[in-house]
Amino acid sequence: MATTLTALKADITTLRVDAIVNAANSSLLGGGGVDGAIHRAAGPELLDECRALRGCRTGDAKVTRGYRLPAKYVIHTVGPVWHGGTRAEAELLASCYRRSLELAAELKLKSIAFPGISTGVYGYPPDRAASVAVATVRDALQIHDAFEQVVFCCFSTEALTLYLRLLGDASAPLAP
Ligand code: ADP
Repeated sequence: MATTLTALKADITTLRVDAIVNAANSSLLGGGGVDGAIHRAAGPELLDECRALRGCRTGDAKVTRGYRLPAKYVIHTVGPVWHGGTRAEAELLASCYRRSLELAAELKLKSIAFPGISTGVYGYPPDRAASVAVATVRDALQIHDAFEQVVFCCFSTEALTLYLRLLGDASAPLAP
């Protein structure tokens, strides 16, 4: 089935999708940015479940329920801190997108929304991060072909512009 790839400007905590992805830190115990917003919107049960996960490595992902969020699940992934591009940042960032899609596919989810992992406090240049995100998701969808929708959830107009450029006609389904 063809998967629709879209970019939109939104607060990811408001999206009614099967899973939203959280740009977490390796403790999985909450933080600022999108992580803080997700924990606030999901409620304290999310932190309880995260505690039991005992952290997550950079480039990996772990899943919890969504609690008070409209999304059923939260996939917590840990992006790389940007060090100038010399510490395998692109590979680690790609791994975040791949692992998140793998987990979502295992759960047979149909829709997933990603924030701009690592592009906040972790300092990854937004244009490079968007290129990695779109290329990696397109690649992974060759294997995980049962998704109906993958959303790149942008928090700024600048980020949205980057994604729309990379996606071309954002409403066009991905060719199989
Ligand atoms: P990281 O530590 O991985 O850089 P941040 O949370 O600092 O994570 O930022 C990741 C991206 O998420 C940034 O582009 C930021 O603008 C964006 N962001 C912050 N809050 C939200 C939100 N509520 N919904 C969607 N994106 C958000």
